[in-house]
Amino acid sequence: MCLFCKIVSGEIPSTKVYEDEHVAAFLDIKPKSEHHTLVIPKAHYVNILDMPADELSRVMAAVKHIAEEYRGKYGLENFNIVHNAGAKAGQEVYHFHTHIIPRR
Ligand code: 5GP
Ligand code: ZN
Repeated sequence: MCLFCKIVSGEIPSTKVYEDEHVAAFLDIKPKSEHHTLVIPKAHYVNILDMPADELSRVMAAVKHIAEEYRGKYGLENFNIVHNAGAKAGQEVYHFHTHIIPRR
């Protein structure tokens, strides 16, 4: 099982910030800024090339939900939403994830 599949199953602990039937989100272990969050499908896909569009839509809907929640809770209004696909693009964990990196 991959690292993020183990986070989904609870085998590896994480600070969860959102969860629904298809999607989970948790804080990045090496945050680039406060509230740096990773949003993932619960099912295993390597990256955007490996993923059906409906799963991608669900993840992006959760990204929007979380960003709006962070605006309401923390007053955050600036974000980098980043997906690194492939080794040469800086992907290090091969389970699809979108970064939400709040910027102050
Ligand atoms: P990538 O470079 O693949 O886009 O990003 C992988 C991200 O996963 C990095 O920002 C890294 O800090 C994060 N990460 C790696 N291992 C763990 C872990 O065990 N727990 C959490 N919460 N984040 C992790
Ligand atoms: Zn996985």
